[in-house]
Amino acid sequence: MDFNDTPEEAAFRTEARNWLDANAKLRGPDDPPAELLADRSDAETTRAAQAWQKKKSEAGWACLTWPAEYGGRGATAMQSVIWGQEESKFLTPPNIFGIGIGMCGPTILTHGTDEQKKRWIPKLVTGEEIWCQLFSEPDAGSDLAGLRASAARDGDDWVVNGQKTWTTGAQFCDWGIVVVRSDPNVKKHAGLTYFVVDMHSPGIEIRPITQINGGQGFNEVFFSDVRIPDANRISEIGNGWAVAITTLMNERASIGGGGGGSVGELVRLAQQVELNGRPAIQDSAVRHRIADFYTRIKGVKMTGNRTLSALSQGKTPGPEASLGKLIGARVMQEMASFAMEIQGGASSVQDDTYSPQGGDWQERYLSIPGLRIAGGTDEILRNIIAERVLGLPPESRADKGMPFKDIPTGS
Ligand SMILES: Cc1cc2nc3c(=O)[nH]c(=O)nc-3n(C[C@H](O)[C@H](O)[C@H](O)COP(=O)(O)OP(=O)(O)OC[C@H]3O[C@@H](n4cnc5c(N)ncnc54)[C@H](O)[C@@H]3O)c2cc1C
Repeated sequence: MDFNDTPEEAAFRTEARNWLDANAKLRGPDDPPAELLADRSDAETTRAAQAWQKKKSEAGWACLTWPAEYGGRGATAMQSVIWGQEESKFLTPPNIFGIGIGMCGPTILTHGTDEQKKRWIPKLVTGEEIWCQLFSEPDAGSDLAGLRASAARDGDDWVVNGQKTWTTGAQFCDWGIVVVRSDPNVKKHAGLTYFVVDMHSPGIEIRPITQINGGQGFNEVFFSDVRIPDANRISEIGNGWAVAITTLMNERASIGGGGGGSVGELVRLAQQVELNGRPAIQDSAVRHRIADFYTRIKGVKMTGNRTLSALSQGKTPGPEASLGKLIGARVMQEMASFAMEIQGGASSVQDDTYSPQGGDWQERYLSIPGLRIAGGTDEILRNIIAERVLGLPPESRADKGMPFKDIPTGS
């Protein structure tokens, strides 16, 4: 496998790098890595992220693989990866468009009508409109096809009732993708329909959820007789599962590409804090742990390179991309725990000025556990790897083929 750029890729990298050099500041060694979960709970961050997206779109650096007629650049997947690699070296506002651009846009481009693409795609590219994903419910996460929010046809509209939860950024969003049950009489995967919903519609109530880190990144969203025009339907009636799979594949691909965290920052922390009266980095046990993190992160990176190699050769990466997220999120969490450990009692204080590295490790310690749940929990990723990569027998599914209304609920 050759991981070096081809001459065309190298030329594209230089073009991207030149534009970034002229328009953003290079990320310094003490700046936090780009891949951490963006806290979308603050309006100022949202405005800064929108301004950066607009700037990129005006220069042709937004949504690179999307068709030029809708505001993209018609670039290859590999060019998009190269752009992402270069952009991550610069200090840019948090990426609040991961859901809209990473998941909603590709789904509409795959399954939407021309009219729907013209209406929604260009404003996703410019960052003018922000999107959320209304899939999970209190009783449907890993088992998404068990969702209960309902849709009933009424003339040219559908009337939606029910509750969604963990909806990232809903309080700042203009549009959402939503999967609802339009027919409870057929088996659970067959009775679903997929819509785009205007988040400002009457009957939508958004209640932010306060997280352990104090942020309000996600929300509960209640639907009470919310009317969604049939023109906003993305799937055939009852074929929402197939469209949802497109969204989930894009979600895994975008999360699976994550880097796994930076050992450099941990080394700097170990140089800064003291253990037994000397810099922690001089302790052989500390050095041993850091070396272990380094090795595992390299492993994640090399596995990620296989995906890049497949893209570079025009192939579609397979379910093995799940490995990057499974291992990477765990290593990041262990690194954050270790960083807290070597700070000793000081780790219990998170302060921009007094905590080492501005309290970033404290923030990570609280927010990284969510990475092991969002976009597929560890156990679900292991099931995918077992069944689709290793070819092991599938999990037994007791409700397979049963009409949804007959599945026991325990109530
Ligand atoms: C930071 C964050 C952001 C999120 N943003 C969004 C969003 O924007 N939109 C959205 O729709 N959702 C969002 N989610 C929700 C996320 O998709 C779900 O939390 C996830 O799918 C898990 O579902 P659940 O929480 O219902 O847990 P459950 O599915 O109830 O799982 C509970 C436990 O049981 C285990 N388990 C479940 N099924 C199996 C199985 N078959 N085999 C073995 N173990 C199993 C799980 O691994 C887990 O440990 C977000 C979550 C987080 C943490």
